[in-house]
Amino acid sequence: MAKYQSINPYTNEKFADYDNPTATQIDEAINLAHTLYKKWQHESPTSRAKILHQVADSLRKHEDEMATIMTREMGKMLHESKEEVEICINICEYYAEKGPEMLKPQPIESKLGHGYYLKQATGVIMACEPWNFPLYQIIRVFAPNFVVGNPMLLKHAHNVPGSAALAAKIVKEGGAPEGSFINLYPTYDQLDDIIADPRIQGVALTGSERGGSSVAANAGKNLKKSTMELGGNDPFIILDDADPEVLKQVLATARTYNGGQVCTSSKRIIVVKSRYDEVLHELKNVFTNLKAGDPMLDSTTLPPMNSVGARDKLAKQVQAAVDSGAKVFYQYPEIKSAGAFFSPVILTNVDHNNPAFDEEMFGPVAVVYQVEDEDEAIALANNSSYGLGSSIISANVDHAQELAAQIETGMTVINGTWITAGELPFGGVKNSGYGRELSDLGMMAFVNQHLVIDVSK
Ligand code: NAP
Repeated sequence: MAKYQSINPYTNEKFADYDNPTATQIDEAINLAHTLYKKWQHESPTSRAKILHQVADSLRKHEDEMATIMTREMGKMLHESKEEVEICINICEYYAEKGPEMLKPQPIESKLGHGYYLKQATGVIMACEPWNFPLYQIIRVFAPNFVVGNPMLLKHAHNVPGSAALAAKIVKEGGAPEGSFINLYPTYDQLDDIIADPRIQGVALTGSERGGSSVAANAGKNLKKSTMELGGNDPFIILDDADPEVLKQVLATARTYNGGQVCTSSKRIIVVKSRYDEVLHELKNVFTNLKAGDPMLDSTTLPPMNSVGARDKLAKQVQAAVDSGAKVFYQYPEIKSAGAFFSPVILTNVDHNNPAFDEEMFGPVAVVYQVEDEDEAIALANNSSYGLGSSIISANVDHAQELAAQIETGMTVINGTWITAGELPFGGVKNSGYGRELSDLGMMAFVNQHLVIDVSK
């Protein structure tokens, strides 16, 4: 792991450094969070929900500041950073409004007696998050667990430490009590020790398969419940009857939103042959018209990637794909800059033996496949070790729903691409991980479903 540093990927200049905590600081943090958990056991979710409304207000008040540090640290376009803050405000409002109701005891019909189960907090949660949505990834764990009564410790990615610090400050300013969200900059070894601590009761990680399997193994070794939100290689299936206008509109951002660095970006564009040329033409049009530049400017539509290292890794993946027979249908002209710019690529002719066939390319690279018909499209979509999201573009929504049920992913969007909101469960199957975040499902991730039954006659 690299050190916790803020480096602006637009200029490649470092602007801040952060120290790892001492063992004493870590112990004090866990203790503070655990003490709050114990206190919260005697308070109702409704009282925390009120504070979560205030946290939403605090985020609203600090939207520009939060958006600016995210853009400076990981390069996403400023207007997308602002959208991210707004999504987070809505997630906080969603759990503030619906959370207490979701946590009411659930009656159980049983011949053995009058039964129900309580939905109780379990303790402190360790959240381990990636840089691609610096605030949203935090809030996905923080907001539901705050209402539940599970305090959260955060280990954010090494390249967004300033965003992590500001998020913690904004939450505190909203009135969240000390210990409800503690930001730390631990090493991997320190993280292992935190997970092993008996006061920690859950581990939520969003990130790559590599990071996920390592942290999940440690959680498993210590019998800690975990949720893993990992990578994806999402299929985007275009059927014969796709509405051309819908297709055009969705393709405009399907592979380039957030600089193409979204777990649920449409990474594999799977097209029935009657629409193949049209899709290649449309996608090329989108890529050609991108305007590389400063992500702080409204005129920019192609930001740098999050780091020079990530850019170089993606370039190697594309080269390996080409060396194995992929064709470059289009590549954006070279971008001369000290920043982490990657010129977007459209690849075709990626066959099953190509390394690119079953690996995630986390940046603006679209791999386009031609298939005979929808059966072949579904088979190709499912021929992946990932299973996060998928899209189907078709004018026949009933039929698209039937096909959605055949796709091995945790989410399918019909006539759209990446989407998220408080009420929509987020997560995948296969190597894309396990568990769900957001919605009522996500809220139950670290809840003790505690059976109480009266068997007296
Ligand atoms: P990553 O390297 O796995 O990092 C994610 C987090 O885990 C970071 O805080 C990282 O810390 C930490 N980490 C990584 N390896 C670790 C280890 N061995 N021990 C302890 N901590 C470790 O992922 P990334 O490359 O930053 O993020 C991009 C990935 O996230 C993509 O694969 C993307 O698809 C996925 N993602 C998934 C979702 C979802 O909801 N399914 C959402 C967003 C992103 P350091 O930064 O300090 O290494």
